Amino acid sequence: MPAKPLPKAELHLHIEGTLEPELAFALAERNGVTLPYATTEELRRAYSFKDLQSFLDLYYALMAVLRTEDDFAELVDAYLARAAAQGVRHAEIFFDPQAHTARGVPIGTVIEGLARALDGSETRYGISTRLIMCFLRDESGQSALETFEAARPHLHRICGVGLDSAEVGNPPSKFREVFQRAADAGLHRVAHAGEEGPAEYITEALDVLGVERIDHGLRCLEDPALVERLARDRVPLTVCPLSNVRLRCVDRLADHPLPAMLAAGLLVTVNSDDPSYFGGYVDDNFTAIREALRLDDETLRMLAANSFRAAFLDDRARHDYLAEVASHTFAR
Ligand SMILES: [Zn+2]
Repeated sequence: MPAKPLPKAELHLHIEGTLEPELAFALAERNGVTLPYATTEELRRAYSFKDLQSFLDLYYALMAVLRTEDDFAELVDAYLARAAAQGVRHAEIFFDPQAHTARGVPIGTVIEGLARALDGSETRYGISTRLIMCFLRDESGQSALETFEAARPHLHRICGVGLDSAEVGNPPSKFREVFQRAADAGLHRVAHAGEEGPAEYITEALDVLGVERIDHGLRCLEDPALVERLARDRVPLTVCPLSNVRLRCVDRLADHPLPAMLAAGLLVTVNSDDPSYFGGYVDDNFTAIREALRLDDETLRMLAANSFRAAFLDDRARHDYLAEVASHTFAR
């Protein structure tokens, strides 16, 4: 029997990035969408990128297959089944409403489809879940504001807002107003920063947007004062090792700065980002870094515990999940 995976929370996961070629083809057929690939194998071969932009081009092209509430619910179900097998006990899931509304899909279809599948996550998969609505940072601040207002009737389905997509040239300060509205509505706030963009974007996300977590954050290491601040304030960083290699933020997994980040006292968590595109789900990331970075069991346990410390959970649930991590037996 295979060893039981380490219990963990996944905090940096784009639901659109869990679209596997098989489901993409099934949905394309159902919705009468023609994909520019003949077979799932041909599509899988297309999943080889030069950088963030070439990944984003394919990522947005494939989203054309997602049209109805059922499509979004099926996408979530497929992710939850995989996540359960990877030891995920809690997931805070990103979605990109503008990528769908731009194609004419109403925002209510997106949110209600996702939320409907998430409603059953605890009983069906043993995974508690939250939904985080992300704004595309290569779109305007005005577009983010319009998206937020369109989502207002559905805000009870959402626990927070985030910021993702092409980072360079799109500083967090573009989104000051929409993050203020999210704060006024009592929502949590997170943002991608310091992936391809500079360390200053991390500082801006903290100071201007008031974020509680930084997604990626690798480039904080270029600013010692920022590292000190992140460590002192226990600001979680949601690191995605396989994604960093596939998008060439890091040359080889063995060169990943995760050990340096841990040594600096940063609250690092490990996540999968867009797992169907980046070669692995979250436990695959744990396995890959264990081998490439020669991490011992107690370091892996600490990373899993960090994921629950960094999650938007109430104290009781956090306590229970941390107890599960503490009592996990490593067997291989
Ligand atoms: Zn991401």
